[in-house]
Amino acid sequence: MGGENRMDQGFDGGCACGRVRYRLETPPMFVHCCHCRDCQRQTGSAFVINALIETDRIALPGAPPEPVRMPTESGRPHDIYRCPACRTALWSDYGGRPLLRFVRVGTLDQPASLSPDVHIYVRSKLPWVRLPDCVPAFEAYYDARTLWPNASLERRRAVLGR
Ligand SMILES: [Zn+2]
Ligand SMILES: [Zn+2]
Repeated sequence: MGGENRMDQGFDGGCACGRVRYRLETPPMFVHCCHCRDCQRQTGSAFVINALIETDRIALPGAPPEPVRMPTESGRPHDIYRCPACRTALWSDYGGRPLLRFVRVGTLDQPASLSPDVHIYVRSKLPWVRLPDCVPAFEAYYDARTLWPNASLERRRAVLGR
């Protein structure tokens, strides 16, 4: 593991016990660092780092993770996919969009290989977290069309139809 996966831009990761292994077959469309209260509570940390990628670009050589339905204020579904054995959270499906996954960057073997493209919900950012000046930050959500590269927007349209 590790080291060999940079040559072809693939990204390997997995859960704590090793039963779930995955590989992102291409770089993600975009990377969110979310400071909202839900992400803080669900991770037990200051924020979550989510790599947005098409579900069919995630190769799963081992056991598939299992969805756990989360309560949401909006009522829109949020499923967190966890290892069936150790329960590590690998990724989320927000809004019941089966073609799109929000992969938790901390589960990569080399989590430093992806860094946030945007910080969101910074209105609830913990006060000791300092954000870099060079990465856009928003009080709440943001408009992907103003921020994403064209190639990523095209990929997004292909999975979401808009
Ligand atoms: Zn596991
Ligand atoms: Zn969040």
